[in-house]
Amino acid sequence: MGSRDYLFKVLVVGDAAVGKTSLVQRYSQDSFSKHYKSTVGGQERFTSMTRLYYRDASACVIMFDVTNATTFSNSQRWKQDLDCKLTLPSGEPVPCLLLANKSDLSPWAVTRDQIDRFSKENGFTGWTETSVKENKNVNEAMSLLLSLTSSLFPRVLIEQMMANTREGSTSLPTQGDYINLQTVSTPGWTCC
Ligand code: GDP
Ligand code: MG
Repeated sequence: MGSRDYLFKVLVVGDAAVGKTSLVQRYSQDSFSKHYKSTVGGQERFTSMTRLYYRDASACVIMFDVTNATTFSNSQRWKQDLDCKLTLPSGEPVPCLLLANKSDLSPWAVTRDQIDRFSKENGFTGWTETSVKENKNVNEAMSLLLSLTSSLFPRVLIEQMMANTREGSTSLPTQGDYINLQTVSTPGWTCC
C-alpha cells in the first residue's frame, strides 16, 4: 500500500512588522531581506481574524517583536481570538508557540521572566526567542511545532478526517509529498 501525505496548515499571526513574512521566507527559502516592505508598514494593531482564516489550521505561531512592548501585549489578544475561533477536531486548543522575535536587537522591551509568565498564563505550548534575521531558532521552532502537530493526529483521527474529505466536507487538505507550512492571505488579513 502506498503512503499517504498530509498538508498541515500552520497559522503565523501577530502584529504588523514583527517578522511574520520574514519567518515564512526564512523557513521556506532560507532567505532574509531587510528591505522587505510591509504592506501596512509601521502600524501596530490587533485585528480580529475571520473564522475562515483560522479554519482547519492544526498549529499556530504567535509572534511579537522583543523591542516593542505593544506587540508583546497584543499577543494575548491574538491568542484569545485564536482560541475562541479554532479548536482541533478533538476539541483541544491547537498547539501554539509564542515566538519572541528580533532577539538580535537591543534593548529588549520585555524580560525573559515576563515572557515566561505570559506564555504560561495564556496557555501557549511554549515560547522561544528567535532571530529570523540571524536564522536563530527558526528551524528548531518549526520542527517542534510540526512534531507537536503530527503527534496530535493519531492515525485513526487522520483516517476519519480523510473520510470527511471524501464526503465533501472541509478538512485538512492533502497535497503532494510533503508537510508544508502555509500562511493564507484573506481580505481580512491586515498584516501581510
Ligand atoms: P510582518 O509585517 O510581521 O510580516 O513583518 P516583516 O517580515 O515584514 O518584517 C518587518 C521588518 O522587520 C522587516 O524590515 C524585516 O527585515 C525585519 N525583521 C524581521 N525579523 C527580524 C529579526 O529577527 N531581526 C531584525 N533585526 N529584524 C527583523
Ligand atoms: Mg508580512
